[in-house]
Amino acid sequence: MSHKCLSCSDKKFHDILNVKKFPIYWGVLDKKFINRVKYHPLKISQCISCGLVQQTKLLKKKVMDQIYETENYLCPSPVKSGMGKREILKFYDFFKKQNLSRKKILEIACYDCYLLKILQNQEHDVYGCDPSLDTVQQKKNFSKNKIKNVFYKSGSYPKKNFDIIIFRNLLEHVEDLNSFLKSVKYSLKDNGSIFIDVPNMNEIYKIGGLGLFFHQHLSYFTYKSLKHLLINNGFEIKDYHEGKPNLFIHAINKNKVLENKKINIKLVNRDLISNKSTNKINKIYSIFKNKNNSNIVLFGASALCTTIVTLLNNKQLSKIKYISDNDKFKSGKILCGSNYVVQNPKKLINKKIDKIIICSYFFVEEIIKSLIKLGIPKNKIVTLD
Ligand SMILES: [Zn+2]
Repeated sequence: MSHKCLSCSDKKFHDILNVKKFPIYWGVLDKKFINRVKYHPLKISQCISCGLVQQTKLLKKKVMDQIYETENYLCPSPVKSGMGKREILKFYDFFKKQNLSRKKILEIACYDCYLLKILQNQEHDVYGCDPSLDTVQQKKNFSKNKIKNVFYKSGSYPKKNFDIIIFRNLLEHVEDLNSFLKSVKYSLKDNGSIFIDVPNMNEIYKIGGLGLFFHQHLSYFTYKSLKHLLINNGFEIKDYHEGKPNLFIHAINKNKVLENKKINIKLVNRDLISNKSTNKINKIYSIFKNKNNSNIVLFGASALCTTIVTLLNNKQLSKIKYISDNDKFKSGKILCGSNYVVQNPKKLINKKIDKIIICSYFFVEEIIKSLIKLGIPKNKIVTLD
């Protein structure tokens, strides 16, 4: 069966990337789940009609459901570890700029409720909805029935109930985009606002995509492709911010059909993406080939880190002495795609290290600072940007 565009249902695509085997989990996983890491094809293409970059060999629902059922570590928790705060605060700045007075707000996929707490402190009437275990633990910080521990659907709340509905880091995981937006519309008042926060495909494009495409993200939005989807669903863009790495949108629920102009599609230059990735891969290989580098550390147990270990042979892998991460909740867990246990950064103090490769694009400065604090010489730190 040929793939239909997740946004506009068209069937013509421009292929960008085709990986035969990619692990369905990335980052870290508890030891007891590590045998669940299976390898599947990962194909990324761009719809020629609406420009949306997306996966075009979707995994079966059963496989996807298991990914989400597994007690996993895909999302950093600012409440638990302080990680991920910076991105939420950037989003909150964008939200504040819209000057919305006291409102009734729902956050779908509110996770550890960090943003909801900020909004509650600003006198908004806040509600949250998320099936995650981290959400259960936060329920006590809100009055009764404010936080629901379920997957959001139209019937979860009364019709036209909210002034604002927020969903961050969610839309890129949704398979049926149009029916999801319909369900959001159901709970939203006429002329109510939605706030969306998704990874910005234009930033992925600049970097080249190595470690930035994976099975959990079905869509990779640009401002243009997301605008097209929203207009088709009766949302009018009020404001947006094309950030690095994320794109924020504020759109208004219009109670009428909006005219969607045919957009000029700029096809993604797959050679440029692949050349940028190849350059990074060559850089990694040259570090591992160098005879002077026999004690290598990968820092940041991320999707990029998982991608790197899947590129290496056994001889190269044997040079990796530690995999480490500043997020203390990753310590003791296993890096997906490997047998490595992630170590606390303190373990690196006074160890013989030839090179530390930073497995992150967006937190490089913070990581370098933290490594220098641990006494690691700057000339041993390598970045991939
Ligand atoms: Zn399309």
